[in-house]
Amino acid sequence: MKPVVIVGLGLAGACTAWHLWHRGVAFRIIDSGKRGSSHVAAGLVHPVTGKNCTVAEGYALHRREAEAFYQHCETLLQQQVWHPLEVVRLLGNTERKKLLPKFETGPAAEWVIDMDLHESEQGDIAITLRGGARLDVAEFLRRSRAFFGKHGLVEEREFSGVSGDATTILCEGAQGLMRGHPVAWQHRCAKGEILTVHAPSWRQSRMITGRGWLVPVGNDCYKVGATYEWNQLDEIPSEKGLRHIESIARHLGGAHYTILSHDAGIRPILRKSQPVAGMISPDVYVLNGLGSKGSLHAPWATRALVEHLLDGAALQSHLSLDHYFASLRHSS
Ligand SMILES: Cc1cc2nc3c(=O)[nH]c(=O)nc-3n(C[C@H](O)[C@H](O)[C@H](O)COP(=O)(O)OP(=O)(O)OC[C@H]3O[C@@H](n4cnc5c(N)ncnc54)[C@H](O)[C@@H]3O)c2cc1C
Repeated sequence: MKPVVIVGLGLAGACTAWHLWHRGVAFRIIDSGKRGSSHVAAGLVHPVTGKNCTVAEGYALHRREAEAFYQHCETLLQQQVWHPLEVVRLLGNTERKKLLPKFETGPAAEWVIDMDLHESEQGDIAITLRGGARLDVAEFLRRSRAFFGKHGLVEEREFSGVSGDATTILCEGAQGLMRGHPVAWQHRCAKGEILTVHAPSWRQSRMITGRGWLVPVGNDCYKVGATYEWNQLDEIPSEKGLRHIESIARHLGGAHYTILSHDAGIRPILRKSQPVAGMISPDVYVLNGLGSKGSLHAPWATRALVEHLLDGAALQSHLSLDHYFASLRHSS
């Protein structure tokens, strides 16, 4: 087999590299060194997401695989990066009638540990869920880059094009989707902004979600987010974003905090926020579209692509690039 070149060292590239490493396949990584969205991500993994409190298909399976994968990497990285967490979902009084049944008897019920139906001062009730986690994405990437760099496998430069003597896997994130070459994606990339704050008075050990979210990251610090913006795809933190996230911070945490940093990135989003992978031409493969759930999806999606490449295993239709293009043709 030809040696493999992975383009991009965000979550997609790093997880692909780890699978190849564990399989003993020769590879190198080319990364521009420009910080992609993985460096902004809060790394949240939680069972019940979005305004409609949806449980993603295959969540339990994907979470189990993600946990085993990151914990396996931790032994080589000599650092904990996967932090299991309880999640509190707050329900305001306007959404309660529609959403509470989902936690009582619907798909979210299996994740419920406790329901506190007494209204808080802000009019919320609190549902505590199991099965959440936070991946320290920045640390996972920093340590992975150092590990592969130590073995001479990382080149920091812009990728200059496919060569015939290697198999290339493009893991270029939103930059690749927006470039539209060599794959003409129909992307729905979204800019997102996030704050890191210091807030000793919050004393919170769980992830709080509702209108936005906050998550403890240690030393009385929290990440708070996030915004979604589809029309202005830049990586510049904005005043508008700041005001929005500060309102989330006050609602979920409280009035007292100090802002440590304010960051922005672009989520690589395709169709239903599901990743897409496959061969685009002989010896050139791609994996992209990790959306807003890269920490959960990267381990299983990159494993499936590596098994496709090395073992000839078929890609499931919801992941397959061929299926993605067939569905675009069908909908046009
Ligand atoms: C504000 C915000 C909050 C988020 N929160 C969460 C969260 O809580 N949980 C979660 O799971 N996900 C979250 N995400 C989403 C997560 O960041 C993405 O799913 C994931 O990081 C995408 O990883 P990637 O490797 O595909 O892309 P990227 O992280 O963008 O990595 C791509 C890499 O490829 C490099 N590259 C691109 N083109 C080239 C080239 N031609 N040559 C060389 N190098 C190249 C780039 O420099 C970059 O290093 C969040 C995103 C944002 C913006």
